[in-house]
Amino acid sequence: MAYKPTMQCVWFRHDLRVADNKALSSALANQAPTIAVYIISESQWQQHHKSTIQIDLIKRRLIELKKELSELNIPLLILSCPWFKDIHLSLKPVFNDLNVSHLFANKEYEANELDRDHKLTDLLPNIHCTFYDDKCTITPGKILNKTQQPYKVFTPFKKAWREYFYQHFPTIEKVTASVQLSTPQLNSLLRYSENDFTNSMSNESKAWSVSNKAILNNMRQFCREKSQHYHEQRDYPAIEGTSQVSPYLAIGAISAKQCIMRLHLEANNQLTQGQEIWLDEIIWREFYTHLLHFYPLLSKNQAFLSFDKYIQWNNDRNKFDQWCKGETGFPIVDAAMKQLNNTGWMHNRLRMITASFLVKDLHIDWRWGEQYFMSKLIDGDFASNNGGWQWCASVGCDSTPYFRIFNPTTQSERFDNNGTFIKYWLPELTILTGKLLHQPNSKPLLTPDNYVEPIIEHAVQRLKTLEIYKNAKAQDVAS
Ligand code: FAD
Repeated sequence: MAYKPTMQCVWFRHDLRVADNKALSSALANQAPTIAVYIISESQWQQHHKSTIQIDLIKRRLIELKKELSELNIPLLILSCPWFKDIHLSLKPVFNDLNVSHLFANKEYEANELDRDHKLTDLLPNIHCTFYDDKCTITPGKILNKTQQPYKVFTPFKKAWREYFYQHFPTIEKVTASVQLSTPQLNSLLRYSENDFTNSMSNESKAWSVSNKAILNNMRQFCREKSQHYHEQRDYPAIEGTSQVSPYLAIGAISAKQCIMRLHLEANNQLTQGQEIWLDEIIWREFYTHLLHFYPLLSKNQAFLSFDKYIQWNNDRNKFDQWCKGETGFPIVDAAMKQLNNTGWMHNRLRMITASFLVKDLHIDWRWGEQYFMSKLIDGDFASNNGGWQWCASVGCDSTPYFRIFNPTTQSERFDNNGTFIKYWLPELTILTGKLLHQPNSKPLLTPDNYVEPIIEHAVQRLKTLEIYKNAKAQDVAS
């Protein structure tokens, strides 16, 4: 006879959704009474530089998730445990009281999270724990190169990903209601007073809807109306040409698979150029997650390429602060940092420009920027952020070559030519036009007094970068 738990628990982490959730649907397939938990780990989150805006988004989403789960007869218990290492202490009493025998959760691939789950199975010996691969549409390990190794270059990864995807065309995980809990079981739950996280909510993320309906509608609307133009619009920060699904993917309020399946549905399985390119971007997310799975050192401050350890950074704290505040004297960089600081989101083109500026114009260790982004982004996702930073710093897997150095002024002229984006975030520059807007100090007398002077000279820093990287590579070869 099939094994049937007396009571089971689904532990929600970065998968705050009911639809297309492997851990949840696998639990529900057992047709046993089910509870759900979420554990707020403020101290651990701080150590991981999780942004307050993302924490707020999570908390707001939890309120919705609780309602959605209750419609499936699943009570969601929101617990608090500052550190991952003590999580078993939070779970044990609940599991004992409710006679929980089986725990379901979706895997998280970061080192501390893996370690937490690994230890938990020892610390809760009577609980049958099952962890599912759910973050990616294609599970890490399913696509390997001819020598059965993970791909280290994006284009062949993408090709293999597409082949696998179209051969196995996935389906959305189904959900059915759970068996109802008995009255004594429901009474036992009352002992666990609700963690009153609503008191500490900052409401910073209120511009982002958290209802399942709104989240899905926005994604569907993008697939229906904007995805065809994605290739023409995605690089211009003044245009809303990208999907802005990243905050929801980051907390798992939506799955990558849901986005991909909807794209195919809207396109009637005949993707246009713009839609193909949008799919590529989601595959980048999968690429970085697969890499994290195979190379745990990536979550321990290490670069993929070994020459990184010989790079002579010039970690100037003042310049770093100027970059963080958006006071570098390079309008596109400053406007971008103001967008990040004020909204928690930054356009992808600008993430590349600002990251390149920090690393290749200021010569500041990319790890400083990675951490700062994480502490501000509403869509902070370790794998994508780390991958993006290593790409820009030319030390990652299939990253940009070290001699490719963005010129912030020409990037600005190209991608915000009439300055709509810059002027929005830097109103003091509204009076400038043409080339001057992109490089105000080229005519100091015309530059508004309240705008900062450039903190570096790009041409000079560029030559230094080439030198620094060449030296680091030479040292690496010699070592
Ligand atoms: P769209 O252009 O609509 O793309 C759809 C989805 O594809 C995104 O939501 C995202 O999940 C994925 N995607 C798109 N571009 C990339 C990419 N280059 N790498 C990985 N996935 C991608 N993305 C995050 O989700 N979290 C991060 O913490 C993060 N940090 C980054 C740091 C740097 C330095 C750089 C260069 C990029 C970073 N990205 C990160 C990737 C990218 O900038 C964002 O995913 C994108 O801007 C989100 O906006 P969107 O949802 O409108 O994207």
